[in-house]
Amino acid sequence: MTAPSNYHELRDPVRDLCRRYPDAYWRRIDRNREYPEEFVQALTEAGWLAALIPEEYGGSGLGIAEASVILEEINRCGGNAAACHAQMYTMGTILRHGSSQQKQQYLPRIAGGALRLQAFGVTEPGAGTDTTRIRTTAVRHGDRYRINGQKVWTSRVQHSDMMLLLARTTPRERVAKKTEGLSMFLLDLRESSGGALTVTPIDTMINHETNELFFDDYAVPAENLIGEEGRGFRYLLDGLNAERILIAAECVGDADWFIERATAYARERRVFDRPIGQNQGIQFPLARAYANARAADLMRYRAAELFDRGEPCGAEANMAKLLAADASWEAANAALQTHGGYGFASEYDVERKFRETRLFQVAPISTNLILSYLAEHVLGLPRSF
Ligand SMILES: Cc1cc2nc3c(=O)[nH]c(=O)nc-3n(C[C@H](O)[C@H](O)[C@H](O)COP(=O)(O)OP(=O)(O)OC[C@H]3O[C@@H](n4cnc5c(N)ncnc54)[C@H](O)[C@@H]3O)c2cc1C
Repeated sequence: MTAPSNYHELRDPVRDLCRRYPDAYWRRIDRNREYPEEFVQALTEAGWLAALIPEEYGGSGLGIAEASVILEEINRCGGNAAACHAQMYTMGTILRHGSSQQKQQYLPRIAGGALRLQAFGVTEPGAGTDTTRIRTTAVRHGDRYRINGQKVWTSRVQHSDMMLLLARTTPRERVAKKTEGLSMFLLDLRESSGGALTVTPIDTMINHETNELFFDDYAVPAENLIGEEGRGFRYLLDGLNAERILIAAECVGDADWFIERATAYARERRVFDRPIGQNQGIQFPLARAYANARAADLMRYRAAELFDRGEPCGAEANMAKLLAADASWEAANAALQTHGGYGFASEYDVERKFRETRLFQVAPISTNLILSYLAEHVLGLPRSF
């Protein structure tokens, strides 16, 4: 399979770094349910996770297209960028909406790797996708807010120094629009909460450090509010296009990994006295997956181009994520089938990547919700919920 012909100046060094963390590394991490600390540390030291931080704050000031190539290469090399991708984009909320003091205080340290900000608590058990129904509250008492409530699926908290939290500061019944009255806070996880924050890991089908969080009168300094009180939902939306594009690129990387592994296997594995790859029943699913991956990739670059020009790209970013997640899942299925029984053996890594790429149909946004967005905002159909 031909490797992508663009962004060599980024792809080559990221690949070189990834080569130091081969299949056996990711297999062991997966089996032991460990965090890929060494890999993330190496990536941080090389500055790759600071791609989107402007140069004035010590980052490399790259565009979203370049940043997406970095994450794509990690997944194309067999790794899992989901362990650390949020370090690249969670800081965007501070960059876009933080005060100049917050930017000065945090961004250079995030860029330099001294500070990890890669946890973002939005989802709650009682609200699910319906974010405006979150029940976690933040009530101001003097120079502090007191947080009470519960979050679920808050990833990487145990490997993050700080986290962003979305909480209600004005009850839903007291705002004109349900999207108002939500606020964004920066929490310092290094400070002892004195038992006010409980973190309970969730066992999942993939090796993804994710947790349930309980806040019981957790105090946050008022200066850690990001932007204006009540505008947190707007700030959340502002970060979504970047996230969609970056994750679309990870899916493209996954799709290419599956197709490459499957075609290599199909050329070598001989059954009935010929390579299995000679059978069209094996060829066609791989050829179709390849075509769909390339189409998704075009949409990802289109979305990135619009994003980097500062133009509206909601439709393209959502379509890129949808098409790329579908393409990687299709490629995963074709690769597993091509490997026959060996697809289920951990030593081939297909089953691990198969589990990992399945997540993108659900998180960080489910396929259905993207389709609803397109139906309503692009096709002008009535809102369905
Ligand atoms: C491994 C993992 C890591 C995660 N990390 C984070 C994180 O770091 N931070 C965070 O805040 N969240 C995180 N999430 C949460 C993730 O964003 C949510 O799981 C996802 O948005 C779906 O929400 P839900 O699970 O509550 O599903 P629900 O909202 O309960 O939905 C269940 C199903 O119903 C469908 N559905 C719901 N409403 C509609 C509708 N109106 N029309 C059609 N279909 C509908 C959904 O598409 C979905 O398939 C993570 C999840 C996982 C699994």
